[in-house]
Amino acid sequence: MASHIVGYPRMGPKRELKFALESFWDGKSTAEDLEKVATDLRASIWKQMADAGIKYIPSNTFSYYDQVLDTTAMLGAVPERYSWTGGEIGFDTYFSMARGNATVPAMEMTKWFDTNYHFIVPELGPNTKFSYSSHKAVNEYKEAKALGVDTVPVFIGPVSYLLLSKPAKGVEKGFPLLSLLSSILPVYKEVIAELKAAGASWIQFDEPTLALDLDAHKLAAFSAAYTELESALSGLNVLVETYFADVPAESFKTLTSLSSVTAYGFDLVRGTQTVELIKSGFPAGKYLFAGVVDGRNIWADDLAASLSTLQALEAVVGKDKLVVSTSCSLMHTAVDLVNETKLDSEIKSWLAFAAQKVVEVDALAKALAGQKDEAYFAANAAAQASRRSSPRVTNEEVQKAAAALKGSDHRRATNVSARLDAQQKKLNLPVLPTTTIGSFPQTVELRRVRREYKAKKISEEEYVSAIKEEISKVVKLQEELDIDVLVHGEPERNDMVEYFGEQLSGFAFTANGWVQSYGSRCVKPPIIYGDVSRPNPMTVFWSKTAQSMTSRPMKGMLTGPVTILNWSFVRNDQPRFETCYQIALAIKKEVEDLEAAGIQVIQIDEAALREGLPLRKAEHAFYLDWAVHSFRITNCEIKDTTQIHTHMCYSNFNDIIHSIINMDADVITIENSRSDEKLLSVFREGVKYGAGIGPGVYDIHSPRIPSTEEIADRINKMLAVLDTNILWVNPDCGLKTRKYTEVKPALTNMVSAAKLIRTQL
Ligand code: GLN
Ligand code: ZN
Repeated sequence: MASHIVGYPRMGPKRELKFALESFWDGKSTAEDLEKVATDLRASIWKQMADAGIKYIPSNTFSYYDQVLDTTAMLGAVPERYSWTGGEIGFDTYFSMARGNATVPAMEMTKWFDTNYHFIVPELGPNTKFSYSSHKAVNEYKEAKALGVDTVPVFIGPVSYLLLSKPAKGVEKGFPLLSLLSSILPVYKEVIAELKAAGASWIQFDEPTLALDLDAHKLAAFSAAYTELESALSGLNVLVETYFADVPAESFKTLTSLSSVTAYGFDLVRGTQTVELIKSGFPAGKYLFAGVVDGRNIWADDLAASLSTLQALEAVVGKDKLVVSTSCSLMHTAVDLVNETKLDSEIKSWLAFAAQKVVEVDALAKALAGQKDEAYFAANAAAQASRRSSPRVTNEEVQKAAAALKGSDHRRATNVSARLDAQQKKLNLPVLPTTTIGSFPQTVELRRVRREYKAKKISEEEYVSAIKEEISKVVKLQEELDIDVLVHGEPERNDMVEYFGEQLSGFAFTANGWVQSYGSRCVKPPIIYGDVSRPNPMTVFWSKTAQSMTSRPMKGMLTGPVTILNWSFVRNDQPRFETCYQIALAIKKEVEDLEAAGIQVIQIDEAALREGLPLRKAEHAFYLDWAVHSFRITNCEIKDTTQIHTHMCYSNFNDIIHSIINMDADVITIENSRSDEKLLSVFREGVKYGAGIGPGVYDIHSPRIPSTEEIADRINKMLAVLDTNILWVNPDCGLKTRKYTEVKPALTNMVSAAKLIRTQL
């Protein structure tokens, strides 16, 4: 009985690769230094898997930046603007594509399916020349072999590569990217030939796009590609790996009839239909790589449950054809639980990070082969039982409150226009009111204060007075700038989810539970392990303090339930929506307390609402329904005169506009750095939406300071589409990552632009 790992985190247990990369980019270390760190990390990962007993160990899942960019390098598909002249692609060209350089911007980055990982989008066109230009995969295979580990080299499959790419600049939008298949396959063939020569006996192609809704034309590309590769692949065992959802029935048929493929990998965690599909017809003589151990979460596997799933599958595919695997690459989970010294042992017993998941996979494989480690399984069963029955997990009161939500729509009693009238009577705002999204620059000094307070190096008194001082500076600045609706600047927050998670029950935090987000950037998601409740007000003190410093309206600032959910590791013992409703009830209490404390405008950020959209269209409606419902729950019972804002960090609303409107917020601020008129017309034409809307008038992701004229021009363009009385003037997003030297002039110009246009109305 065999075991397999789809892929493994590259950053290292203490983010060693991150620090090596950043030091190299800063010119503080050499390419050799960076390579040494990378070589050591790869060696330790291979050794760890080999020691655990894993039979099919992946290689080429390491990356200096991104696995899709690695494929672009392998194919030599370097966009022209990087002036690459051929030859093996080195760090210069590679990191220029990833991060840009002094003269040329980076390639675009986008989210990897429904994960929080971002990949570098290939830019292709009819003139793209492909040539074998990075031998990374073969080199890594040889490197492992020299260490005595025979690995399975992993590639992004050719069809997924093309389906994830976009037409290069200057290439027509409708350019058929799949037409490039015949141009990239020769490079794949060269790589395959080299791998064979080096002694490889297995090869893995990740084709995660197979879990999406694909039309017949796209499916045909899979048949074409793997037929074309057939002779090159002969003599090798070929695994096509899918993940993140089940493969739709039609695609499953196409996939399982590919004759050059000898093994199929499926996600049995997210792929809820997968077991049925396999039972309904799996090709005789092929291997099934059964992804039972969850690569997207941090929970210890329920080994007994997995074992019985595996036994059922064994009956279908045969004993020697079943391989135990992970649901997807482990790069989407944290690295090693061993480094969590602050978590208590009960919670720790419920968890498994990548290193522990490797051991789980192997234990399952051994158990299937009749060598069950009874003690290990017993300990796992005990931990599962303790998680089910622990009073830390279940809070009857919360369960009841969440259950009582059913059957009601939770909508504010009055419609948005009537509410806005009532609010305006109190707020008395000018037309084109100005505001910001929440955070102000986070200075080194500010970070030091928070760090020292956390480490108990300064007293609560000192901390509070430092934060108060910061708020007062931010308030004064906004008054000087003559902004209409103020914010307190969020100086007390390190992160918009962590700040709330730390004050809610049911959340745990890791010390090293980092997950790569893009390049060297990692996030450390909180773990939601139990029913969520809010023991005490979380933001009221700061908002009240800030409001007391000004006579202008001060926005209360909260993170919404869907965003808290989507940016956390979520419990797997109840549906996501139930956890979301619980968070919504906690935030509701906070909203009501803010209102009672005299806060008249409350912003509830849903930065990540869109991110949670399921991969398959058929599931969108259900998700959007509970997500939007959760948002409404937070503010359904407040007064008409309290104004609810929400903010979203994207501008792609075409497909979800009805859901956004259904959130029933009074004012929506959104990212709109490209000043996309199409977006605005979506808002206008789609539905007669009465609420205020603030499409960002300038891009906060860049240090560039926009001029008054430029901002005025943008506002005018928006006014060409939207009614004057609903338009708000604000930046794109929070100002946290900017410097005061950028923020002051930019906001000065923003306010001048709004004033200028007011005089012209
Ligand atoms: N209120 C948050 C801020 O300004 C919103 C951040 C976000 O949308 N990502 O920082
Ligand atoms: Zn934002």
